[in-house]
Amino acid sequence: MTQPAEHINDRRGAAASRRGRAGLHAETRVEGDGDASGRAAWALDLRALGRRVLDVLLPPHCLKCGTIVAEPGSLCPSCWQAISFLGAPTCDACGLPFEFEVGPATLCAACLRHRPVFARARAVLVYDDASRDLILGFKHADRTEAAPAFGRWLARAGGELVETADLIVPVPLHWTRFVTRRYNQAALLGRALARETTLPLVPDLLIRRRRTPSQGGLDFAGRARNVRGAFRLNPRLAGGVRGRRVLLVDDVYTTGATVSACARVLLRGGAAQVDVLTLARVVRPAH
Ligand SMILES: [Zn+2]
Ligand SMILES: [Zn+2]
Repeated sequence: MTQPAEHINDRRGAAASRRGRAGLHAETRVEGDGDASGRAAWALDLRALGRRVLDVLLPPHCLKCGTIVAEPGSLCPSCWQAISFLGAPTCDACGLPFEFEVGPATLCAACLRHRPVFARARAVLVYDDASRDLILGFKHADRTEAAPAFGRWLARAGGELVETADLIVPVPLHWTRFVTRRYNQAALLGRALARETTLPLVPDLLIRRRRTPSQGGLDFAGRARNVRGAFRLNPRLAGGVRGRRVLLVDDVYTTGATVSACARVLLRGGAAQVDVLTLARVVRPAH
């Protein structure tokens, strides 16, 4: 497992110039040229100035522990060391990390037995004791200021997937949870990734049609039952999925049951391919 430094501080992310993609109701912003570049430079200067002023007033804090750090949207050295970033070699399908180098397109034992419906899943970091606070803080404690950093990390870790994707779709949250939690963290991650890559984001392509009981403590089969029939395509946008390669975004990959249910709906709706990118991934020993 590697912990590349660019995960932390690269503000540009991967593939910054993916313009002109045909999207649905895309939220992506396409940078202009000519006059607009002058204005953009101004805006950047002002933003940098604004950040310097803010840094003096509110120095940037480590995304996980709150220690003061040099760069906004970064981790302090000890949190950075504790977190396990994921990278090659992994199972080509589910993204499970391997201990040793393997040939291209190698699958783990579970995927050899039962190939997932999505093509590839990748994640930024391991979901473990070290990363739990970071993820749960984002999920429940309104620490949404981490979203831009997470967007950069997703763009890095999901570079291969971003390259071949046509659009980004977040896993939807049922509206009753949306009310209690106030925002959908998968949608926030999707939006942050869209900003890094300029891929179009279609936040409401998938709809959760019923509230699913908590997935806690369930295995893949239990979770799969739990989410069966839980998702459908938004009828208003369903036509736009045909032939598209969809990058599905969620916060944590646990057993893959939720993203599999979403992928199945997208593929049934005519998507050419579905890949999955998550911020974190549960990695069980002896998979
Ligand atoms: Zn820290
Ligand atoms: Zn696998």
